[in-house]
Amino acid sequence: MRRLEGKNVLITGGSTGIGRATAIRFANEGANVAINYHASETEAEITLEEAQKTCSLIREKGCGEMLVQGDVANEGDVKRIFAEVLKAWGRLDILINNAGIQAASPTHEMAMDAYDRVLAVNLRGAFLCAREAVRHFLDRGGGGVILNNTSIHETIPKPQYAPYAASKAGLGSLGRTLALEYAGQGIRVNTVAPGAIATPINQEWMDDPEKEALVAGHIPMGRPGEPKEIAAVFAFLASDEAAYITGQTIYVDGGLTLYADFRTPWSSGS
Ligand code: NAD
Repeated sequence: MRRLEGKNVLITGGSTGIGRATAIRFANEGANVAINYHASETEAEITLEEAQKTCSLIREKGCGEMLVQGDVANEGDVKRIFAEVLKAWGRLDILINNAGIQAASPTHEMAMDAYDRVLAVNLRGAFLCAREAVRHFLDRGGGGVILNNTSIHETIPKPQYAPYAASKAGLGSLGRTLALEYAGQGIRVNTVAPGAIATPINQEWMDDPEKEALVAGHIPMGRPGEPKEIAAVFAFLASDEAAYITGQTIYVDGGLTLYADFRTPWSSGS
């Protein structure tokens, strides 16, 4: 499908995992993709190559894929990221706030710098990017699309990951707020909330068959998700097929949010 022909998209944290799969999917749908990365240029180069491969297979006019380095938590970096993208393309149509990190610790032992960093990347970063995108959309007129990547922990508590859960709940609320604030200007804002997806953020359980089986055992569909299954939902939400959807969170989680404990009756007498 080529539902995003000629659209310009910026994906934060786009060099690995869900971001990488999304870059490749969007290139496949005909979009020009700016892949933001923070630390590893090597990972970013691999993603760029994969996206360009997809794009050169399907596009005659060449590929518009590009890399753009920067820390989304840093206001100066975010302004530069947008300036670089707009210098290259002149316009942006879609922003995907995908960059995210987590920090694990019992809350009573959580260091404030760990808490602050998670909030800075996951929530402040998304805000800074959304603000730049909205400014651009309003300047040029004609609307735009902002998509956020939260997590099932947008609503489900996550003990020992308090800053992560708080940041994702905040991001869900940020998305709904922006959706309402700018619906009249043609700006749609939606959120994808993944369950357990096989990406580098989950390397710890992915590398351990016993832990992976434990994870799968909690998922009604019996398996972790694949990054491309999240990318597919971003592509739908970015496209005109979702033209009348704004302010929503779509959970893509193999049924994790269905309260698996209720699979068999236990709370009522039979
Ligand atoms: P990942 O670790 O591969 O991706 C996170 C990306 O964010 C990396 O490329 C990383 O370099 C980038 N990043 C980190 N700090 C950054 C910064 N300051 N500026 C710019 N980029 C930065 O893991 P992933 O699973 O692909 O995660 C992508 C998003 O999906 C995250 O927001 C994560 O919270 C969310 N998510 C993942 C899962 C899962 O199970 N994998 C579940 C729910 C939500």
